[in-house]
Amino acid sequence: MVLPGNSRVFCFFSIPGVYVGSINSNKYHYPSCRYARQIKPENQICFNSIDEAQAANYVPCGSCKP
Ligand SMILES: [Zn+2]
Repeated sequence: MVLPGNSRVFCFFSIPGVYVGSINSNKYHYPSCRYARQIKPENQICFNSIDEAQAANYVPCGSCKP
């Protein structure tokens, strides 16, 4: 889903293999992680792979260990 005037992609938690981060941190999570679920939708950033997350300088969450 892309909002008008906003190119950012929103996360779909139902898609397997998607990782979720917050624009306010440098951690990425499994969508099932309780911390991922605490990220407000407007602060979510989606990664299609671990490589993609790490390329954006995100590090694995210490709780869900993606
Ligand atoms: Zn996590």
